[in-house]
Amino acid sequence: MSDTTDDQLLALARAMIDLDHPVKRDAAAWAAANLGQHDLVEADHQSRFAVDDWRRCAERGIQGLLVPTQHGGQGADLATTLLTLEGLGYGCADNGLTFALASQIMSTQVALVRFATDEQRARWLPGLLDGSRFAALGMTEPNSGSDAFALEATAERLDDGSYRVNGHKSYLTFGPVCDLCIVFASTNPEAGSWGVSAFLVPTDLPGVDVGPLREKMGMRTTPFGDLTFTDVVVPADSLLGREGAGASIFGAILDIERAYVFAPQIGAMERQLDDTIGYAKDREQGGHPIGHYQAVSHRIVAMKERHEQSRLLLYRAAMADATGRGITLAASLAKVAACDAGIASSIDAATVHGAKGYVSEFGVERQLRDAVGGLVYSGSTDVLRNIVARVLGVT
Ligand SMILES: Cc1cc2nc3c(=O)[nH]c(=O)nc-3n(C[C@H](O)[C@H](O)[C@H](O)COP(=O)(O)OP(=O)(O)OC[C@H]3O[C@@H](n4cnc5c(N)ncnc54)[C@H](O)[C@@H]3O)c2cc1C
Repeated sequence: MSDTTDDQLLALARAMIDLDHPVKRDAAAWAAANLGQHDLVEADHQSRFAVDDWRRCAERGIQGLLVPTQHGGQGADLATTLLTLEGLGYGCADNGLTFALASQIMSTQVALVRFATDEQRARWLPGLLDGSRFAALGMTEPNSGSDAFALEATAERLDDGSYRVNGHKSYLTFGPVCDLCIVFASTNPEAGSWGVSAFLVPTDLPGVDVGPLREKMGMRTTPFGDLTFTDVVVPADSLLGREGAGASIFGAILDIERAYVFAPQIGAMERQLDDTIGYAKDREQGGHPIGHYQAVSHRIVAMKERHEQSRLLLYRAAMADATGRGITLAASLAKVAACDAGIASSIDAATVHGAKGYVSEFGVERQLRDAVGGLVYSGSTDVLRNIVARVLGVT
């Protein structure tokens, strides 16, 4: 094991055991002071997105945290990146914004850093890191979701080496605002998943139709929508990795995204816990603070358990990652646990707050709406349970 790996493991272990880690606390304080607490941005009907906050994060270097310095990023280690995302989730109630940050950092940017050529990185990374451009990851289609490689999008190689892309990609994070879409399409339909390739497709090309914003239950500030590609011709150097490498690129990105995309939500769960403890101490009924009643205090203890369990699994996945081991099992467990915890704790928080937990103006119910999407994105929790069962040799 190299010193670098040892250093990373030590940093992750410190992050794991220190709930008051200074990196996390600094990020939380910065987010509370500098970012909006939006549930919805009413002014911008194309995205509902707090663009100014996004740019403020870019100025602070957040989008570039995990990107190596030679590619224009901060070159931060995984522990610093995860602690920062947790802190942002604690300090900023706009879970749509923090989800979008985690999503870009852990999916499209990871794809570019790991699989792109120097020319491709030089073209796309600067704008993503300075907050002026957006990228979507285009896998899901109307007829292929969990069964991702049943995709119908095609990319036909033309005589001059360029490709003609056709297809419809749906429910894409950043869809309505993206400048770049990493499109997964079949270059050899007979080869199944081995025939899938990934392309960097600029959305200003003729034949790209950027669909309107899709409104959703929660994380309403995350831009979300569809893109269609009709005879879009992209040059040969738009290929990300080799032809036919799309499935392995997608699998690698998805493991990373699944492992880490919940980092901000874990911070948000801690904020929710602290708010609920405060309320249970302040609110009196029957002559006592409601926290005096075991039914209330045990709900809060369950919230604490769930928060810590989710956090441990997040850093456990990161440690497996740092040692270079496969993280499919750890990432799947981390995502399932954090998703279930977020929903269960949001119901507990709402219950402890009584009517204030249900009425929108107090900001308690939005946590539940924001948590539900986790059941679906980056692989549904049911599909992830299938993966865990397979790794365990049960199926
Ligand atoms: C907030 C959000 C962000 C997203 N961002 C992106 C993005 O950036 N890029 C992108 O490409 N996609 C994105 N998606 C789409 C997401 O990846 C898909 O919604 C997901 O893969 C599920 O596909 P589906 O919606 O078609 O559901 P389906 O696959 O049709 O599943 C419907 C139900 O059937 C269950 N099911 C399906 N197959 C199985 C099985 N084998 N075993 C057990 N149960 C099964 C599922 O668990 C689910 O409950 C996003 C979705 C959301 C909600």
